[in-house]
Amino acid sequence: MKSTFDVCNPATGQVIERVIDGTVEDAVWAVDAAAAAFPGWAATPARARSDILRRCHELMLRDADVLAALISTENGKSIVDARAEVVYAAEFYRWFSEEAVRGEGSYSEAPAGGVKTLVTHVPVGVAALITPWNFPAAMAARKVAPALAAGCTVVLKPAEETPLTALALGRIMLEAGVPPGAVNIVPTTSAPAVVSAWLAHDRVRKISFTGSTGVGRALLRQAADRIVNASMELGGNAPFVITADADVDAAVAGAMIAKFRGSGQACTAANRFYVHADVVDEFLEKFGNAVMALRVGPSSDPESQVGPVISSRALARITALVEAAIADGARIAFQGKIPNSGLFYPPTLLVNVPFGAQILSEEIFGPVAPIVTWTDESAMLASANNTEFGLAGYVYAGRLQDALRIGEQIAVGMVGINRGIVSDPAAPFGGVKQSGIGREGAHEGIREYQETRVYSVDWA
Ligand code: NAD
Repeated sequence: MKSTFDVCNPATGQVIERVIDGTVEDAVWAVDAAAAAFPGWAATPARARSDILRRCHELMLRDADVLAALISTENGKSIVDARAEVVYAAEFYRWFSEEAVRGEGSYSEAPAGGVKTLVTHVPVGVAALITPWNFPAAMAARKVAPALAAGCTVVLKPAEETPLTALALGRIMLEAGVPPGAVNIVPTTSAPAVVSAWLAHDRVRKISFTGSTGVGRALLRQAADRIVNASMELGGNAPFVITADADVDAAVAGAMIAKFRGSGQACTAANRFYVHADVVDEFLEKFGNAVMALRVGPSSDPESQVGPVISSRALARITALVEAAIADGARIAFQGKIPNSGLFYPPTLLVNVPFGAQILSEEIFGPVAPIVTWTDESAMLASANNTEFGLAGYVYAGRLQDALRIGEQIAVGMVGINRGIVSDPAAPFGGVKQSGIGREGAHEGIREYQETRVYSVDWA
């Protein structure tokens, strides 16, 4: 008899489902299955792999309502956010169905003559994929689709809070024609043991991890033992800069998305708002009004815009961060309302946040917006860059030149210019500094699952 674990709705605490708790033995078995399926999948013509991925996209959209309901039940996000995630996730299958058939290489003559050089790209092998709970469909799709497009087979460990969406994607992939063994999903409460077993397995040639910087760092150390190719999508601490001549209404609309999507639990979430002194009063009033109008509640309420946070630990952490900010001199300017029960934190705007406050250096991962007023651009940029993270940033400015000048000086992988969202399957997603290594999506995404191979041909 296999042991199981409970998956709960964070809005109500109710158990939704019990899932088999994967063991190290299961983990090894999954790699063996992926390794057995690898030669066949890698040899499948790219057009056939592409057609299957395209079918995954279509089936996800066919099942969008069911998938959105599942995501919002196990993750807690509003049904609107969950639907948007399904469309975003499905797009990775479509995008990589298109990339699958755009294999590239080169044929050239060595400078000394007498030798021709052929360069091609081959699938790296079995890939181990580890995903977080905050985008249960999108983070899985963003890894699985390029891996399959490249000809790799995979083992996937979803977060234990949200395994049901990954399992639903697994069923969709089987229906679409992904052969058995090509995708192996192992939900587990023993993440360290399962992932260590994968990194120790001689058939695993790739790890792609999305999650916190601390865990990523530990996995990189383990990957070093067998020199496993590693891609890391880690934490963020995005600054959101508003200049004196920015369109304040547009900045408020962007701030609402960048801050409150998924209750602020996105790696790209705006973590710190740097608002120029000339517009701070207007911005605060309009942002405050928008925050007070937000409807916070469980996803079973179709009108709800902001759901709960993922766990009581997360709730306690956010509460402590806000208390520390107040101790640092900040003040709550606006705070929304929440239901009487459930893991909800009220949408909160903090003002008078000093440049050195702890809340500016940590990933809040909750619906709290600290607002810093600036006048001196270089001091603002120094504060914006005073973090180990470098994932995303946002700039709202009246002139594109100013937005780009400021954007160029923020040390991040992605900058939103006059928009509150940077994610796009067709754009390379990833960070600098301790926010990660590698890129997902776009043309770069498939290359993360390929090795470059050279044939050096005697032409004398
Ligand atoms: P987490 O690091 O705790 O967990 C992520 C995944 O790693 C989960 O599947 C978890 O079970 C697994 N895990 C945890 N400890 C492990 C260990 N010791 N060994 C192996 N696996 C382990 O992160 P989280 O709390 O689930 O997610 C939030 C974090 O993810 C935030 O820091 C957020 O910024 C980051 N994130 C980054 C991106 C990105 O693309 N850069 C996207 C989404 C989330």
